[in-house]
Amino acid sequence: MTQPDTRSVHAGRDDLRARGLHVPPIDLSTTYPLTDLASGGAAYERLASGNAPGRGSLVYQRLWNPNVARLEEALAELESCEGAVAFGTGMAALSACLLATVANGKPHVVAVRPLYGGSDHLLSTGLLGTTVSWSSPGGIAEAVQPDTGLVILETPANPTLELVDIADVVRQAGDVPVLVDNTFATPVLQRPVEYGATLVLHSATKYLGGHGDVMGGLVAGNADWVERLRRIRAVTGGLLHPLAAYELHRGLQTLPVRVRAQQAGAEKVADLLCTHPAVDNVFYPGLPECDPLGLVGRQQAGPGAVLAFTTPAAEQLLTRLELITHAVSLGGVDTLIQHPAGLTHRLVADEAKPDQGLLRLSVGLEDPDDLVRDLAQALG
Ligand code: PLP
Repeated sequence: MTQPDTRSVHAGRDDLRARGLHVPPIDLSTTYPLTDLASGGAAYERLASGNAPGRGSLVYQRLWNPNVARLEEALAELESCEGAVAFGTGMAALSACLLATVANGKPHVVAVRPLYGGSDHLLSTGLLGTTVSWSSPGGIAEAVQPDTGLVILETPANPTLELVDIADVVRQAGDVPVLVDNTFATPVLQRPVEYGATLVLHSATKYLGGHGDVMGGLVAGNADWVERLRRIRAVTGGLLHPLAAYELHRGLQTLPVRVRAQQAGAEKVADLLCTHPAVDNVFYPGLPECDPLGLVGRQQAGPGAVLAFTTPAAEQLLTRLELITHAVSLGGVDTLIQHPAGLTHRLVADEAKPDQGLLRLSVGLEDPDDLVRDLAQALG
């Protein structure tokens, strides 16, 4: 097996050379011709129950699409999983996991805060029929009940970059599957199944796409979960568009170089923020005080490229920046900054809402010296 960087370039493309192609052909068909009703019906049934098409017709785009399948194969390989299922957004991916949990008769979820505000809101409202117990990373064993169907965590977590020891949570969870949102770390830095996680979730909108121009979500896991999630996608329709799948698959090819270059920039930016008198606290996994368990270098290959900091004049700073863009989202080639309490975590309950002075910064591919200059002038 070749190295992970090589697989990022080639995964999901291994058949192309034999087919005389250099890049994947884009298939936009919403429907596919059938040879006869009996074989068409059999293919329909196979796909609608979450299985791969084999040699039968693909029937209908909601059931199967070759570009989506290529992306899924590639991400599964990068995450060391048996398979993956792609959705229209990260939230659609999480929704499918929750629906699978409810359908399994175990609607209780144990979740570690902080989570992305949208995920927190979805769990808090119980919109999909789940109930939630919020837990610290050390309190999972106590929080698990007979009807617990899933444990959910992010590491690094949005927005304050807390790190969670995945293996320890898995041990406490016992038989209950653990879902790790790996959006911030990406498989370049961390592969949660290597520490026992059952499901790995991505907002592909972020690093996997990497250019702020495509939305998507992915869940990687074992064959049983893949089948269940595909069935849910086929029935509920939260699928990923083939053009989006093509772009995300292309994004994977540059993922390792982008993540490492952005990480190097973030380390320089963290250095500035740590020494600036207008900054009270810096949250970045690369700082020893933010990684008390020593997970960077062990569970996670590097600190990543997202950081957060508190400053008394957070709102004013946002209007003074000239190069860095004030916008939600993260993981793209350009640097973005946003105010979690007012935006991405606006719907989170007061007791879990981020500090009003907190800003989250996603470091892009610009020259870090330019980013440092822009932040320094805006901080004053
Ligand atoms: N998970 C994390 C960690 C996120 O940051 C986000 C979005 O910001 C999501 C999930 C949701 O993804 P999407 O916006 O693609 O629905």
